[in-house]
Amino acid sequence: MVHPNGSPNGTNGVTKDRSKLIPFSSRLKEGRALAQDVWSIFNAANLPADCINLGQGYMNFAPPEWIKDAANDALNTVAASHYSHPKGRPRLRQALKKYYDPKFGRDLDIEQEILVTSGANEGQYSVFVAFLEEGDEVIMFEPFFDQYLPSVTFNGGKPVYVPLHPDVSHGKITSNDWVIDFDELRRAISPRTKMIIVNTPHNPVGKVFTRAELEGIAALAEEFNLLVMSDEVYESLTFDDKEHVRIANLPGMWDRTVTVGSAGKMFNATGYRVGWLIGPASIIQPTLAATTRIVFCSNSPLQEAAAAGLEQVVDRKFFEQQRKEYNERRQILIDCFDDIGLKYTRPEGSYFILLDISEVTWPENYPFPESVKGRGRDFLACWYIALEFGVSSIPVSEFYCEEHVNIGERFARFAFCKDVATLKQAAERLRELKRIVNKTSA
Ligand code: GLN
Repeated sequence: MVHPNGSPNGTNGVTKDRSKLIPFSSRLKEGRALAQDVWSIFNAANLPADCINLGQGYMNFAPPEWIKDAANDALNTVAASHYSHPKGRPRLRQALKKYYDPKFGRDLDIEQEILVTSGANEGQYSVFVAFLEEGDEVIMFEPFFDQYLPSVTFNGGKPVYVPLHPDVSHGKITSNDWVIDFDELRRAISPRTKMIIVNTPHNPVGKVFTRAELEGIAALAEEFNLLVMSDEVYESLTFDDKEHVRIANLPGMWDRTVTVGSAGKMFNATGYRVGWLIGPASIIQPTLAATTRIVFCSNSPLQEAAAAGLEQVVDRKFFEQQRKEYNERRQILIDCFDDIGLKYTRPEGSYFILLDISEVTWPENYPFPESVKGRGRDFLACWYIALEFGVSSIPVSEFYCEEHVNIGERFARFAFCKDVATLKQAAERLRELKRIVNKTSA
């Protein structure tokens, strides 16, 4: 008898192509999950060995000693070698409470209102699992952190994009010049809108949303009964005395907001994969049900390390020191871009800086690899800069939907979460861009 799908081994003994026997889920066809992601294309492995990596946002330095010590201590205990409670280890939830109670002005309930997750990504994914129905719309501001997109579509959600508009008309723009058009935001809301994602401080713009902007978003969330996911993983990294405002703290917003945090960003430990969610029980409890069935629990030893971090961070004035260091790092790239005479967005938060690369040109027959062809112009520019000038960056059109690639392709994102010596060397190399900047259009 012939199997309805045909026999994997052809009749008469000729072997058929067995490389695609089992069709994969159509889910992967959505949310750009099958496209090569920007992190893989601009990965150190694909670039010359001596290329300085200002692309993917991770540090080239370690977490502080006192956090590494706590990780090592935890590895030597029996308890931390085993499962944790799906809510997170009690010590970490206590430490989160101690740190965040004053920030939220609340007496947080560690059983109901705090959830430890396997990095911020998994936490956000679990919120989508817990709250999205097929066809529910999720509003995200462009540029958006690329991971949001598949996390939404994998769970049946439909992304709806609202671009932040950069005012590039004047020379020196800051992240505050990337603004929301509130009429456009209102028009993006439909009867199917379920959620809105806010990211402040913002990756990749560095924007720290103002109180007025967050009030505007909050008013719409209240009017249309939206769940707000506030990705605040860069909360401890603000500059120029810019105030980090939590949308959850605006009147009435606690009940509809889940705030996302990350030990990776706070403590230079992006590989620890420890994140957390804070919000009302009505959001955290369904999300706990989802996360329990996705990962069951997060890794135990590094939760202990994150706990030690949060327990000591205030007394050690760690963030004050960290902000000073990042300010110095930011300045190295700012000075460099000023010297070259290229426009950039001065970031007021996070550790990224957007360079306007619209005047960067390259030889017509430059041998670009297939992976960057057919993408935005920025993919070519970033590749060319990485290969010819030895500094990698991330093309910003990756953070836009296809219809809006033209907005993003004007920019390359440089990460400054690197030590001063590395940034100085990168700046020295980037100064050479002067040679190829198309001054005629400047
Ligand atoms: N958040 C980091 C960045 O934006 C890393 C992202 C990732 O590797 N998925 O660079």
